[in-house]
Amino acid sequence: MMIDTHCHLYLDDFKEDAGDMLIRAVNAEVSHFFLPAIDSTTHKAMMDMEQQYPERCFSMIGLHPCSVKQNYLYELDHIRELLKQRPFAAIGETGLDFYWDSSFAKEQYIALDAQIELALKYDIPLVLHTRNAMQETINVINNYKGSGLRGIFHCFGGSLEEAKQIIECGFFLGIGGVVTYKKSGLDETLKNIDMDHLVLETDAPYLSPVPFRGKRNESSFLTYIVQKIADIKQVSIAEVVRITTANAKSVFNKSFSQEKAP
Ligand SMILES: [Zn+2]
Repeated sequence: MMIDTHCHLYLDDFKEDAGDMLIRAVNAEVSHFFLPAIDSTTHKAMMDMEQQYPERCFSMIGLHPCSVKQNYLYELDHIRELLKQRPFAAIGETGLDFYWDSSFAKEQYIALDAQIELALKYDIPLVLHTRNAMQETINVINNYKGSGLRGIFHCFGGSLEEAKQIIECGFFLGIGGVVTYKKSGLDETLKNIDMDHLVLETDAPYLSPVPFRGKRNESSFLTYIVQKIADIKQVSIAEVVRITTANAKSVFNKSFSQEKAP
């Protein structure tokens, strides 16, 4: 079975057919879904979905860098309150994003550090989003070397040099639909990266793999990502699934130890 380590299945994009979409995913052998938080406007929808499918869906909690605005301190307090009330699978997604707007760059750094502290306090993984800020994010994570901080650089699309730095920090690379895009160059990078450092993700509803690029993404499409990784690494699909599932279980070990026996 495969694990979708990053999917926003609780968003309105799936309002009409969330149940059917999950059945398609399970039929495609995707067994578990990790739901990254965005901000307080979507926390309830996320936790409602988790409550509906408690054996399969696991909520993270965090503040997306694109949601770091004037009210970010309120958002961070809200996260701290929720963490006192119940366990979460991870802190995320957090990180740095200077693609659309860097006017809150300073606040993004503050929010990232605050969320790293929470990941350490609760001993859960950190799920990172970076855009136009890969090296900046790696530099922040480097400050915490030896602290026990661990997690995933979600939607990795960087260079081999960046991948090596991330692995050095003890983080995994989240590989999604981008690996199927011709011009991404990610295939060349992955040839030189051991599969022991990779986890699978769709980032649904975003970033659909080829041949669905531009359409709504969903977790069943993970099969196209696995096929592409198998082609790149010249191994069987079963081998990609075996290793990446073991990796995902080791990152989210607490979620799996809480799981009820089947
Ligand atoms: Zn995301």
